[in-house]
Amino acid sequence: MTAVTPSDLPFHDRTDFEDADRGFLGALDPGVVTDASGRVVWDNDAYAFLDAECPDTANPSLWRQGQLVSRQGLYEVCDGIYQVRGLDLSNMTLVEGDTGVIVIDPLISAETAAAALALYRTHRGDRPVTAVIYTHAHVDHFGGVHGVLEGVPAGSIPIVAPDGFMESAVSENVYAGVAMSRRAMYMYGVALEKGPAGQIGCGLGMTTSTGSIGLVAPTIDVTRTGQEEVLDGVRVVFQVTPGTECPAEMNFYFPHRRALCMAENATRNLHNLVTLRGAVVRDARVWSVYLDEAMTLFAEESDVAFASHHWPTWGSDRVVEYLSLQRDLYAYLHDQTLRLMNTGLNGTEAAEAMVMPPALDQAWHTHGYYGSVSHNVKAVYQRYLGWFDGNPARLWQHPPVEAATRYVACMGGADAVRSLAAGYAAEGDLRFAAELLDRVVFADPSDTAAKEQLADVYDRLAYGAENGTWRNFFLTGAHELRHGVVQAPPEVGSAELLSALTVEQLLDAIAIRVDGPRAWDLEATVDWRFTDLGQTHRSTLRNGVLTHRVVADGTPGADLTLVLEKGQMLGALLGVGLDQIGTEGDLDVIGRLLAVIETPDRSFPIVTP
Ligand SMILES: [Zn+2]
Repeated sequence: MTAVTPSDLPFHDRTDFEDADRGFLGALDPGVVTDASGRVVWDNDAYAFLDAECPDTANPSLWRQGQLVSRQGLYEVCDGIYQVRGLDLSNMTLVEGDTGVIVIDPLISAETAAAALALYRTHRGDRPVTAVIYTHAHVDHFGGVHGVLEGVPAGSIPIVAPDGFMESAVSENVYAGVAMSRRAMYMYGVALEKGPAGQIGCGLGMTTSTGSIGLVAPTIDVTRTGQEEVLDGVRVVFQVTPGTECPAEMNFYFPHRRALCMAENATRNLHNLVTLRGAVVRDARVWSVYLDEAMTLFAEESDVAFASHHWPTWGSDRVVEYLSLQRDLYAYLHDQTLRLMNTGLNGTEAAEAMVMPPALDQAWHTHGYYGSVSHNVKAVYQRYLGWFDGNPARLWQHPPVEAATRYVACMGGADAVRSLAAGYAAEGDLRFAAELLDRVVFADPSDTAAKEQLADVYDRLAYGAENGTWRNFFLTGAHELRHGVVQAPPEVGSAELLSALTVEQLLDAIAIRVDGPRAWDLEATVDWRFTDLGQTHRSTLRNGVLTHRVVADGTPGADLTLVLEKGQMLGALLGVGLDQIGTEGDLDVIGRLLAVIETPDRSFPIVTP
């Protein structure tokens, strides 16, 4: 459950506030970052309202997390190691070397990364960047890299990342990217006003910056635990942790500083086993195993542990305690969900039945500000057993509109259901009130009274939520019920991210846009002969499916052959023309193919049919 009452939690313990403020050297003032055109890409000052006492429009536990996470500035972690926090969703960490500074995780946007580096230099001198480390392959840890490489000749400094970084960095959003980015608007509360009744962060950080994203490939792959590198005179010992919070992730240790970087594997909240925007489910068991390994490798020799979000933990005893609770958190969720599953509970039932041990319930950093116990239990269930709970009544259910129409009719019409819902809401059963009103709205999306009533219920669910992303989902749902679907911002795909896709990924990306029914009478075979790769890929449209494989050059059967370099492929796929691309065969094939390629609606409705 996400609801907590303030008295259940140790609000009197101010240790987190002391830690979050420790080593403060100075803030960016104002705490606003703009791009070259003057557009605001980050505004931390907009969260100044969090200084006040928690209002009744927020869960006190989440409000407290917002107070901690919205702190902004440069902080000393230990001698020679600094963090800029509060200038993006993530932290940038700076490690001073013999001749300059090593940057760990250059934020999402070049603009915020440049501002963070400038803030560091204001206080620590104009040290050149001598190395970059990406802890893992999520965009909030590499996207702003150009902001710290300004003036650094390309290829002149080492860039270190876990094995599989590039593949992971570009692949997560290739297939389900449109649905994920629409749902991410709900998760981060992009359309919401920041304020006591609006967006107060997402638990992990405040929100995401909106500047320019890039991707510079690593030059050093970390492939095994125990691998050591010396960067600008600084010795670093690595632990690879594949398949934890990210498919490619690593922790690492600085022996001369007795400092441990836990990447995003141990942050000051319960993280996500599946993010609400949607993702492949992560493995809680592996996650806990690697946390235990990090403890045995490093914890007792660490005077401080820091991560890519939130504030550090000082003192080896506290580091050990912190990591052991984080380890137990993921292991407990994994093991207990499986135990409950094996007694016959489905995901919803297991989530409801899950009770956390007292130590995990009382520690602040094990609370579900970003992930939640409820949705993480369902994630474990999903990982092992999938969507079907085994009950045949739920094997072949009607989709939402068809079910809603029947439910509303069975319950005596919309007025009767709205009145029933009002009764449940008045008794505080907001969950069932939402379920009833959702049926009314899906049976008749023009019922504005039902939409308003449901929006009010979502508001109240949001105000009670301890989880930042739940709050954002409820509030965004309420917003869209009242004002209609928020239009997705223009797609600003990073050219560097797109160009890092493989030929196979690009062909897959186009295959998932083929409108099957419209295409199933068409047959076409196109060869892509890449002069720079020395490879020919054949894509074949048949039965509404665009499949592809590598073929030997000159294999007969192609209706059209395109002769090009890989860099030209994207333009051809986006239909911007075939300039500079050699062609052999029937050019009309292109038109026939493009005619069955669908452009997805990036602003599809969620809380209405
Ligand atoms: Zn992150």
